[in-house]
Parts: sequence; structure tokens; C-alpha cells
Amino acid sequence: IYILAIESSCDETAASVVKNGRKVLSNVISSQIALHTQYGGVVPELASRKHIEKINQVISCALLEAGMGLEDMDAVGVTYGPGLVGALLVGVAQAKSLAWAADKPLVGVHHIEGHICANFITHPELEPPFVCLVVSGGHTHLVVVKDYGEFDILGRTRDDAAGEAFDKVARAIGLGYPGGPKVDALAKSGDPHAIRFPRARIEGCPYDFSFSGLKSAVLNYLNHAKMSGETVNSADLAASFQNAVVDMLVSRAVAAAEEQGYGKLALAGGVSANSAIRRGMEEACGKAGLKLYYPEPVYCTDNAAMIGSAAYYEFRRGARSGWDLNAVPNLKLGER
Ligand code: ATP
Ligand code: MG
Ligand code: FE
Repeated sequence: IYILAIESSCDETAASVVKNGRKVLSNVISSQIALHTQYGGVVPELASRKHIEKINQVISCALLEAGMGLEDMDAVGVTYGPGLVGALLVGVAQAKSLAWAADKPLVGVHHIEGHICANFITHPELEPPFVCLVVSGGHTHLVVVKDYGEFDILGRTRDDAAGEAFDKVARAIGLGYPGGPKVDALAKSGDPHAIRFPRARIEGCPYDFSFSGLKSAVLNYLNHAKMSGETVNSADLAASFQNAVVDMLVSRAVAAAEEQGYGKLALAGGVSANSAIRRGMEEACGKAGLKLYYPEPVYCTDNAAMIGSAAYYEFRRGARSGWDLNAVPNLKLGER
């Protein structure tokens, strides 16, 4: 089964051809980072305009690189939520028109299901059930992947997403957007134990997360230093912040896999590209006897290959979208 997949939920215009949900024949990504960086974050209106500008070319490239035509595809998969409505609409409209014109089935995909499925690309042997920690720009979820396309949500963030915390802290230090990779790089030369930041727990909800207290603590630290004229070692600050995030993510994810009785733990989403998180997870999973999985960096952040994988498993279950498929900006995981 060959799927042409399209992703345009945020600031990446992406298309991919994926065979049987696991083999990537092409993976084309046109990033808008250069456009949004001058504003310090994604500007939704500009994002949709840029998607419109790029999407045809990105799709043509994906088919060309795969050495295939639209007529060779078995279905067209597309992200229809969650994300920015104007951005999603570009991909959805394009997918609908291509599928209609070529008389192919259309499969709408949940963006976060795509992030989870990125693991199937990197690990051909990985099969459900397993626990997955989804850490992206807008989501922080602990999920049991019971089967392909079947999810139980164990916990979620009460406030900021992990990626949002990285981005906000990066902005406060003056690193710019997107902040995650920059904090990751800067932290390498810092001392993770230099500053003790809080690790929030939520009473009675052991699998939930909260990052707003940590973010405020970082901002307070910076303000305090500014007022008293002290110079801040930003590498130490980045490393100490990152260390607090690692602690919070590792403790919950490992506990969830152990307590729920799964021997496998997967990571997904842009933040799972973080080197300290990977290292912390490797260490803790080694001790706990859990097998750890995470996608290659290119499949951690937004891409269409992961959407092609998710679309394949949805297609195999018989899922088909109608010509009335619409963008759903706040689509919940497991909702159809
Ligand atoms: P969502 O998937 O929740 O809709 P999104 O698509 O914007 O949001 P992703 O593309 O999965 O999010 O990930 C982008 C996020 O990942 C950004 O917040 C970015 O800062 C973060 N990120 C990327 N690389 C790293 C890294 N090495 N360390 C920490 N964070 C990172
Ligand atoms: Mg992005
Ligand atoms: Fe994403």
C-alpha cells in the first residue's frame, strides 16, 4: 500500500510517500522558520499564505523523489487537526482535490497520532501495545498505544506543553525561535545542577504534568538577577531548566510504563529530539528494564512521513474520510 501524505498543521509544509506505513520513499519538508523567526514565533496568517505558496511544489517533489505518480498511490493521507485552522485548511483542500481528481480514497489523520507513528518508521520491529510520551510544541501527553489507532490517555499537561516551555525560556534568555534546539545546544556547556528549579507534581494525578511553575521560576530568576545587577550564566540556566524538564518527564513516563505493566516506552514529538531527555530516558529505562524507542530527529519534528504511517494504519482499519473533510483545530486524540 502506497500513501501520499500531506502535513501543514503549523509552520512546515510537508509531503511524503510511504510504503506499508513503515518505509519512507520520500520525505520533503519546507520549513517556514526563516519567515517566522523575525517575529519571535509563528504568525498564523503568514503561515497559511506560505503553505499555499509551497504546497504544490512540495507534493511534486515528494512524488518525484519516490519515482511515482499520483496514479500509483492507494490513498491520500492528510493532517486535519489539531493545529492552526488556516494552515490545516491548505493541506486538507489540497489533499481533497488530489484524491478527488485521481479517484483515490482520502484518509484524514490526527497530527499527534502521526507523531506517535514516527516510531514505526525508525523501528520496523515496534508493535503495540506500548506507552508513549508525546512531547511537542503544543502537547504533552502520556498515552497507552493499545493497538494501531487505539489510544488511552493516562495523563497530560495542566498548562504549558513541554515544547512551549522550551520556547518561552529560550525567548527569555534571548535565543530566539524555535527555542528547543537552541536551549539543547546551549545547555551542553552549562552545569545542570547550578540552579535548583522546582519539579511540580499534581496531587492525585501522578501522570499529569505542569510546566508553568518552572517557566515562572526561570523568569523570576532572570528578573531578580537583572534587578540586582548580577550577570546570569545562561548556559547554566539553560542546563538547569532542561534538567528539571528531564526529571519531570522521565519520572512520570517510566512510572507509567512500569505501573501499567508495559515493557516498552516510546517518545514522540519535537521535544523528543532533545539530547538530555534521550539520555535521561536511556538511563532510567536501563535501570527499570524497559525497552526505549524514539524516532530519528527528522521524524521527531513535523513531517509528512509520520502522517503517511498513521494514514496507512487508519486505512488498514477501514477509515475513509468524506469529501466534506474539514480542518479541526482542536481535534482530540482518539476522536474521529
Ligand atoms: P504539536 O505537534 O503539538 O501540534 P508542533 O507541531 O509545533 O506542535 P513539533 O513540531 O512536534 O511541535 O515540535 C516543535 C517543538 O519541539 C518546538 O517547541 C521546539 O522548540 C521543540 N524542539 C525541537 N527540537 C528540540 C530539542 N532538541 N530540544 C527541546 N525541544 C525541541
Ligand atoms: Mg514546526
Ligand atoms: Fe507537531
